[in-house]
This record gives sequence, C-alpha cells and structure tokens, in this order.
Amino acid sequence: MSKKYVYMFSEGNASMKNLLGGKGANLAEMTNLGLPVPHGFTISTEACTEYNEGGKKLTDEMIEQIDVALGKLEELAGKKLGDPENPLLVSVRSGARASMPGMMDTVLNLGLNDVSVEGLAKKTDNPRFAYDSYRRFIMMFADVVIGVSKSKFERRLDEYKEEVGAKYDTDLTAEDLKKVTAIFKQIYLDDQGKDFPQDPKEQLLEAAMAVFRSWDNPRAFVYRRMNDIPYSWGTAVNVQMMVFGNMGDTSGTGVAFTRNAATGEKAMLGEYLVNAQGEDVVAGVRTPNPIAKLAEDMPNVYDQFMEIANKLENHYKDMQDMEFTIEEGKLFFLQTRNGKRTANAALRIAVEMVEEGLITTDEALMRVEPKQLDQLLHPAFDQAALKAAKSLGKGLPASPGAAAGKVYFTAEEAKAAAEAGDRVILVRLETSPEDIEGMAASQGILTVRGGMTSHAAVVARGMGTCCVSGCEEIKMNEDAKTFTLGGKTFAEGDYISLDGSTGNIYGEDIPTVEAEITGNFETFMKWADAKRSLKVRTNADTPHDAQVAIDFGAEGIGLTRTEHMFFEADRIMKFRKMIMSDTVEEREAALEGIEPFQKEDFKGIYKAMKERPVTIRLLDPPLHEFMPNTEEEFAQLAEMTGKTVEELKIKARGLHELNPMMGHRGCRLAVSYPEIAKMQAKAIMEAAVEVSEEEGINIVPEIMIPLIGEIKELKFVKNIVVETVEKVFEAKGRKLDYLVGTMIEIPRAALTADEIATEAEFFSFGTNDLTQMTFGLSRDDAGKILSDYIDKNIYEVDPTARLDRTGVGLLMKWAVEKAKPVRPDIHLGICGEHGGDPYSVEFCHLIGLDYVSCSPYRVPIARLAAAQAQLQFPR
Ligand code: PEP
Ligand code: MG
Repeated sequence: MSKKYVYMFSEGNASMKNLLGGKGANLAEMTNLGLPVPHGFTISTEACTEYNEGGKKLTDEMIEQIDVALGKLEELAGKKLGDPENPLLVSVRSGARASMPGMMDTVLNLGLNDVSVEGLAKKTDNPRFAYDSYRRFIMMFADVVIGVSKSKFERRLDEYKEEVGAKYDTDLTAEDLKKVTAIFKQIYLDDQGKDFPQDPKEQLLEAAMAVFRSWDNPRAFVYRRMNDIPYSWGTAVNVQMMVFGNMGDTSGTGVAFTRNAATGEKAMLGEYLVNAQGEDVVAGVRTPNPIAKLAEDMPNVYDQFMEIANKLENHYKDMQDMEFTIEEGKLFFLQTRNGKRTANAALRIAVEMVEEGLITTDEALMRVEPKQLDQLLHPAFDQAALKAAKSLGKGLPASPGAAAGKVYFTAEEAKAAAEAGDRVILVRLETSPEDIEGMAASQGILTVRGGMTSHAAVVARGMGTCCVSGCEEIKMNEDAKTFTLGGKTFAEGDYISLDGSTGNIYGEDIPTVEAEITGNFETFMKWADAKRSLKVRTNADTPHDAQVAIDFGAEGIGLTRTEHMFFEADRIMKFRKMIMSDTVEEREAALEGIEPFQKEDFKGIYKAMKERPVTIRLLDPPLHEFMPNTEEEFAQLAEMTGKTVEELKIKARGLHELNPMMGHRGCRLAVSYPEIAKMQAKAIMEAAVEVSEEEGINIVPEIMIPLIGEIKELKFVKNIVVETVEKVFEAKGRKLDYLVGTMIEIPRAALTADEIATEAEFFSFGTNDLTQMTFGLSRDDAGKILSDYIDKNIYEVDPTARLDRTGVGLLMKWAVEKAKPVRPDIHLGICGEHGGDPYSVEFCHLIGLDYVSCSPYRVPIARLAAAQAQLQFPR
C-alpha cells in the first residue's frame, strides 16, 4: 500500500501533531468534537520533508491523494473549486509541529479566477466582496507563491485610494475593487511576463509547494534556532474551505486567548475586526476591537463564542489561542492551540489550573518551558526610580518586563547596535516577521500600531522580551528616524524605557533591580523540587554569586573557578609577580602574598553556602592569560619585581603557547609548579576549618583537580593536596572530612574512568572542554565555524550550548558505567555550560548523575528541567 500523505480533518486527532502539525491535529480534534470548523484536509509533514529533500517536487502519489481529498472536500462543501457558478474557495496554510507564529506562509481565497469571481459575485449577490477577495488572493499568491513583492501591490493600492479619496480599504466600492483587481493582474503580468494563473488546481498545488518551501525561509531558520526546533520536522499544509469575514458588517474575524497571555489572569483576551479577513488582525494594520464589544454587536455570536472557547479550554486543559471568523452572523473556529504566554502568565495559569482542579501538579510542571523562566530572573525597574520618572505616553502592555535602552528604528540597526554592546529598544510602526532578529536582540519593542495579538505582541511574549504595542499617540517619522511622544522628540541613540506590564513609556534610562522568586513562582518551584531526583548546584566564584544562586534555589556549588579571584587590579599584579618568578623560592614568596586573598574569598563563599557542599577547583587556565598587556603594565611589574621590562618580556614570550587550550593549563600547572597547588589547598582547608569554627558548622570541602587525562597525573596532584591538607589539620588541631575529585573533560579521562575512579572521590563532567576536545573544535574559535555548520544543516544545534548526546554523551555514559562498579559511592556531576540547558539536564538525569551545576541565573531552569526529566523518565 502506498504511504498516506493526506488526511481529511475527520481522520485525525490532537495526538497526531508530528504528522499533521499542530494546526492540522487541532482542526481534526475540533472537527471530531462537533465544533463549527470549516471542512478541509491536511497534507502531512512527511510530505514536506520528502518535498524538501526530494528535489522540490510533489510526487504523483501526493498529487493523487490531494485530488481525492479535494473531491471529498467538494462533496462536503457542496461546491467545486473553480466552478463558474458556485465556486469553492480554500485557504492554504502552514502548520508545523510546534507553533511558529507568522514565520511561514498562508494563501487565502484560493480558487478564484476571472470566471469564478463572477460566479461568487452572483451567488453571494455581493460583487464588492467577490472582488475584494480576488484582489487579496492575487497579491497573496504573487507574494507567497511566486515571490513578487507585496509592496508593489500595496503601493498601487494606496495610490488608487488617494485617487478616489478613500481612507480605508472598506471605503472602496465594488467598481473600485474590480479596477484594483485589474491593476493587480497587470502588475503580475508585467513582473512575470505571463498572466495570473487561472487554473485552480494549478493554484492549489503551487500554493501547497510554496508553504513547504517557506519552511526554508530565513526567518523560519532564525525562529527554529531560537526555539530549538529541528529542521527535520517540516511543516504540514492545511487546505480548508474558506469562510468569509469580509462579507459586510455582520461578518468579521478575530483571535482570542482563553486567559490573559501576558498576565495569566483568568479572563478572555480577544480582539476582532468587523468586515475583515484573518490576516488583517494578526498583521496589526488596523487596531481591532476588544472581544467584549462583540457582546454588543452580535450577542448571540458572542455567547456561542464564549461557550466554545470554554469548552476548548476544558478539553485541552490548557489556555487556548483561537482564531475565528464570523460569516454573515455564523461563527466558525479556524484554529485552536495552546497559547503562547509570558513566563509569569505560564506560572499563574499552571498554579490556578491546579487550584481549579483542572490539572494535577505533575501536569502543571510539564506546562512551563524551563527556558522561559529566564524571563523572570532578569531585572525589574527600581520601584523608587520608576515612581520618580514621568511617563510620556502609554501603549498596550503586550509583553511584560522592564526595558531601558537606546532607540533604533530598523531591525538591522537594532541588531548591529546590540552586537556592539548597546542596550536597544526597537521602535517600529508595526513589526513584521522579517524583524525577528532585531526583536530578539532588543531589550524591548515599541510599536505604533497593532493590538495585544499583533505580530509584535505574540512574538515578543514568546521570546520573553518586553513589548509595548499600539501606542498611537506616537508621531513617527521613519525617514528622518525620529518619533515624537508627549511633546518630546527622540532620535536614534536616545534613551527610553518601557514598562511592559503597564504599557508606560518613559523618555529616560530608568535603573533596574534584581528579580526575586515569590508568589506563583515560589509555589511552582516547590512542586518542582519535590519531584526531581537530580540535585542542582551552581557555578559561583564570589560570595555574591553564591548568594544569588541560593536565592534562586541552588543546593551547593559545583564549580568555583579560582582563577576568577585574581582578576581585580591589585590582585593581578601579585599574581603576575608569582608567574614571573624564576625560582621556587621566589614563587613561594609571591604565592604567600596571594594566599590571604584566596583564603578570604573561600571563607566568604563557605559562609554564604553554610553547610551546603562546595567544590573548589585548582587553578585551570594557562598562565600567559594573566600576562601584562600594555607597556605601562610591564613597567609597573618591573618596579614591583625588580626585574627589567626586557627580562619580563622574554619571560612572557617563553610562556606564550600556540594552542593554549591544549597547553600548559589545569593539572599540568600543578605538575610543573606544585607550590601553586599547595598554596590553594592550604587556603581552601584553612578557610574551611576557620569558618567551621567561627560559624559552628561542619564544612566538607570538595577539592577538584582539572584537566586530568591520566591516572598518574591525578595521583601526583592529589598527593600534594593531601599532604598539604594534613599539615593544615595538624597546625589547626582540627580535622574535617573532605573529598578530592576530578573533572572529566579530556576524552582519555572518560575512556579510562575505571582507573581514574580509584583515586577520584567525585567526577564533575567539564563538558565545555569535553565537547571541544571530542569535536576537535576550539572553544575560542568555534563561533564562525558553528554558524556556518548550522546554516548548512550539518549540525542542527550548537553542541557547545546543547549537549551532543551521541558523541560527548556516549563518553559521559561510558565514564559513569566504568566508574560506578569501582567506587559505588562516587559523586557524579556536571559543571560545563550544559548544566543549565534543559535538554542536557535531561540527559544527565538519564545517565544517573547526582547533580548538575550551572550559572546562578539558570538554577531555576535546571530545577524545573530536572523535575520534568523525573516525570518523563522516573528513576
Ligand atoms: C568545562 O570545561 O566544562 C569547565 C566547566 O571548565 P572551564 O569552562 O573552566 O574550562
Ligand atoms: Mg574545563
């Protein structure tokens, strides 16, 4: 039997998202629930993948199945595509597995041609509507399918409106629209050298292929990369009988969320436009009416709408984002999906749905994307500064958050300024999907037009970027790159601040403060903590970072990079003196000058962490990283050490390495200069003994030796550590328990983990280096290479950010399996960047690690990811 590529809506259901895409699966589900959904069929994501991989052609099998489905649709609709008297019109819309709002293409009113438009006019007794639909179709088809720029058509339409003195499209008469249609066809002919295609079958197949191709457009690439959506998923195509919101004043179209997508409040948030087609609402060109107005305009439709919306929310047990159309007083649902929401809204909805008894806490935990929590961990406005500031104007609070930065007017300029290190606010009349990269690079987005469901609002909420939309008081001069608000004119580079929770706009740079975990967030995180089996630690080098991480729920420190303690101006000079020493005695003397700083830092960290475990790593980076750079620095060092600048430069040259990441760093430093390891071990243990005494607590330090590849290296450095620690105990007259372990970050260490485990009491996977060395890809230089690889689909994602389970993961798994039998109570963790990435956290859970360690701001993300891993793969 041949493969099935095409499914009638009645053949699918909500569980078939992978095959039918989110939209297709939900249209099928709604059809089966008996809701008013226009009939249609879905061409599967598998067809898309085969199309894109197979020479960009629909196979005969696919075409045949589309034909059959179209026949069934015509039967259900009681009309035929292209019929001269009663033509069926369809929409052709994309729908991937994960929703990608506005990223791919849509064609509406397909099936119109010079003959069927007349049939439609007669049948509906509404020539204005028929020609309005035809001119829209010509433009959309030309733009999406053929690639003739939409602006060519829009410009001519604006000129025409001026000629006849029409302000809005709705002011145009049937005759006008007939003329516009003729103009549009001429534009098409001039551009393409052939007439607008009249065969509806050809229109349909071409449109379906265009939707498949739109999976490949640049903005879809960017969106997928931002949201970890694999290229291999592809998009489905939904072909659905058109219903018309542009048939007059008893028609309309809108979008609605069953709860407020910005705040999570249990209140319908919806907007609609009378006498309009779907795209008019999302595009944000006309500012729509709130849904409550529908209760006045068409009370029966409103009641029915509310009933179905509530039914959908109860059915999916999640907040729904719906599209609907009213055709001459009759309501249709065109789409429903779990709505995108801000992190605050996601938490409130999850917690309230548990309180309402709609879902369990386990279900609630799966409702929030761990990465989304990031939004809540970033600064909010300093309340006092905010009170003192004067708002210049107000737009819609489309996506909450506090944003302050310099104004830029185009997505490209915003992106460039952000790359140059500026905080940026993107100010646009309205945003379009092409702006996505500029939006992602901005702290905040401000638009003049568009409602709460405009493109800017939906995308900003998805990205967690602050957005104020629809501030119509703004007078914008796009050419001059200025705008005026509240009597003040702003040019490129001027500071403004946006409050995405109130919609207020300020003409100044308002300072921000750190976030806190309270309310719904706190409740939710408690559920996550009760569920997870993986512990979450943090990478912290200062008492301040340690405290931030504890506030975010860290249970210990998985990595203190001791080298970071030498960066301050007065310390680095002392450190340089140590590096420049010519003899052991000289170096030991210099180290004595450093030790007090180290010890004080360690004490600060222990105090912040109380009895929580703390892993401190011995010095890791190559010494030349600490070298003086400027003449002045050399001169200063010369004065301090009594050596000449020339001598110092020769020494510095001697330390220079061609490949420092694979060079004299990590445990290799301790092998060459044991006195460095001695000083550090002494500082670690003295600090621990002293804080244990001062605070009356029991600290168990974990001393970590980096960059081990061979058991004898580990033994060598461990001996130095143990000897030093024993001396400290003797001197202090007090012993503490402590652990000595190693990082697993060189493939050879992973491969020989059974040997290494005989000496190491814990392993911490250093997946930054392990990834670098497994891929043979330098951490310092990989950026450019990786972006080429990702653009060319060689790597789906950046392996330095998301753990490569296949290769690096295999080494980790091997190491765990080899080490456990040798030392059953070995502690296992990860402290590479991957420790805060949800997909990587899940892998750590799967291979049986005890904890992940990540930067303080990612601790809550890791806590939730760990809970979700436990829910899906109990251990
Ligand atoms: C690692 O290599 O993963 C690690 C945590 O160490 P660093 O990034 O300091 O090399
Ligand atoms: Mg490392």
